[in-house]
Amino acid sequence: MKLLDGKICAESLVADISKRVAGYVESGLRKPHMTVILVGEHAPSETYVKSKIKSCENAGFDSALLRFPESITESELLAAIAEINADPVTDGLIVQLPVPKHIKPQNIINAIDPEKDIDGFHPTNFGRMTLGQKAFRPATAYGICKLLQYYEIPVKGKHCVVIGRSNIVGKPISIMLSNDFDIGNATVTLAHIETPRALLLDETRRADIIVVAVGIPGFVTEDMVKDGVVMIDVGINRLENGKLVGDVDFENVSRKCSWITPVPGGVGKMTVAALMINTLMAYQNNFDLA
Ligand code: NAP
Repeated sequence: MKLLDGKICAESLVADISKRVAGYVESGLRKPHMTVILVGEHAPSETYVKSKIKSCENAGFDSALLRFPESITESELLAAIAEINADPVTDGLIVQLPVPKHIKPQNIINAIDPEKDIDGFHPTNFGRMTLGQKAFRPATAYGICKLLQYYEIPVKGKHCVVIGRSNIVGKPISIMLSNDFDIGNATVTLAHIETPRALLLDETRRADIIVVAVGIPGFVTEDMVKDGVVMIDVGINRLENGKLVGDVDFENVSRKCSWITPVPGGVGKMTVAALMINTLMAYQNNFDLA
């Protein structure tokens, strides 16, 4: 078993980005700029936002963190987004999810200018990605593709099983792996909560690559996979003892894997790296750079 090390891969991608940014700055352009909106107090979101801001520093980007109280209304938040949409200095905008319950996340996602939507959640980007057109690809799914590419894992022609169909992970990765993309052209099965257990087992036991994003610790067990499987664990679950684990029973499943992502240090790092790639793309679009 070998580790698909998201930390090493992300550092390499961000180092490449920082070199390109240094070149742009030398030629007289401003730095790329990411703005993050954080609403309320949510410990995991604080951690994710911190790591995004830190990664901006490493990439040579400017960044801004705008904090709003839990009590902000949806229309106030939409007004703040409209202001950033109109700000020529912001290349990429993220509204950290989840937002408080009184705010509809889809209304927030829909309000972000698609040209600044570096999370790739806006229907315009999601639609363009699905059609195989140039788009900001959803960051976690894009990060997974970049990780597979970095470790030269063959995807074309392989049988992939994606477990979980959320709009931010399961659905986009299933589309991206099946599309005729640089990392794609696989035959993909998408499983979800209504997938009968026996069918799920049939599929996972013959899968070459499994991507699991259900948010259930230890969901994928040893008996569900074949020898040599490539295992991508998207889950981030905090146990009562404070330990962070994925959706895979790592200790037992990893013995059967050819490759596996660790948690932490796997897909999470790649999500942040993909945001940096998308921000650079937004900046290059703004300045008509190749
Ligand atoms: P989500 O919105 O809760 O979606 C979970 C998906 O899993 C749903 O589609 C659900 O099916 C499916 N599911 C739940 N129980 C299942 C079962 N028993 N069998 C088959 N499918 C089942 O979660 P998410 O946002 O995709 O996140 C999933 C996990 O990834 C979480 O642990 C989250 O923290 C983590 N995550 C990590 C990153 C990263 O960067 N590493 C990024 C995002 C999320 P239904 O649609 O039918 O309900």
